[in-house]
Amino acid sequence: MIADVLYAIHQLAEQHPAAARELAQVERLPIPAVTFGAAGPVPVLIVVGGVHGIERIGAEVAIAFLTALGSRLSWDQVWRHALARCRIVVLPLLNPVGMALGQRANGNGVDLMRNAPPSRGRATPLLGGQRLTPKLPWFMGRRGLEVESRALVELVASETRDAPFAFALDLHSGYGVVDRLWYPYARTREPIADVAAVRAFGALLDESLPNHVYTFEQTARAYTIKGDLWDHIYDERRTVLLPLTLEMGSWAWVRKNPLQGLSPLGRFNPIKPHRHRRTLRRHLPLLELLVHATVSYRAWVPSSSSR
Ligand SMILES: [Zn+2]
Repeated sequence: MIADVLYAIHQLAEQHPAAARELAQVERLPIPAVTFGAAGPVPVLIVVGGVHGIERIGAEVAIAFLTALGSRLSWDQVWRHALARCRIVVLPLLNPVGMALGQRANGNGVDLMRNAPPSRGRATPLLGGQRLTPKLPWFMGRRGLEVESRALVELVASETRDAPFAFALDLHSGYGVVDRLWYPYARTREPIADVAAVRAFGALLDESLPNHVYTFEQTARAYTIKGDLWDHIYDERRTVLLPLTLEMGSWAWVRKNPLQGLSPLGRFNPIKPHRHRRTLRRHLPLLELLVHATVSYRAWVPSSSSR
């Protein structure tokens, strides 16, 4: 299954050679990134997929977005103007070895989303991160940041260093029947420093995408995590940063097609072709809104949030 995803990324890189680069390699598989738009101190949108290898649909949504973006930039003056004012960085597959093995964790058995330095306080047992064994899910690792985690941390740091504002959207699937759009923290229900910007974005989402499908909430409302990578990235930020996680509710796909629940891939991905296509197009309006909200951040991010 990874062959299709890597092939799609390879094709995109061939079409846009100046935009594509390799952040790192893990077991000789690349961690690719594609960058469109302006260099320098402009607002930034970072889109990430494939953090959990089994959640293939996240990588596919990122690739669908990249494909649409590449096409739009070849003819669409509205998008060209937008990209002259911001930068979009897409990292479609952070965990290529996990995807090749058909598993959530990376090749060392580490759950990359539990791999940051552990926070104090209580987390949901097991699911919130565990240090017992890589044989169980949600293993946090024992040797600090894995290659993949470091690639993401360093990418966000370098891309946002001079940015006046930054969004990230990390594409996952699992957990529940609805599509959740989560913001930090995952470790605690305490508000993040940019809570005013979070609230402003929530209002923007409701008003600009009426009847959207998302439940917009703090990650810690669902469960609490030790060593959440986005919590760590948020705490290290140098700008106003809103890292969002889209958790596509995969239980809805299983409910409509119970047999697919028998396979790990089926528990985390839409299998029926019509449902797969529907999922790929379902989130493009959100991504488009994020591009517009990135370019226009001054119009809605409260001035109290600016640094
Ligand atoms: Zn995930």
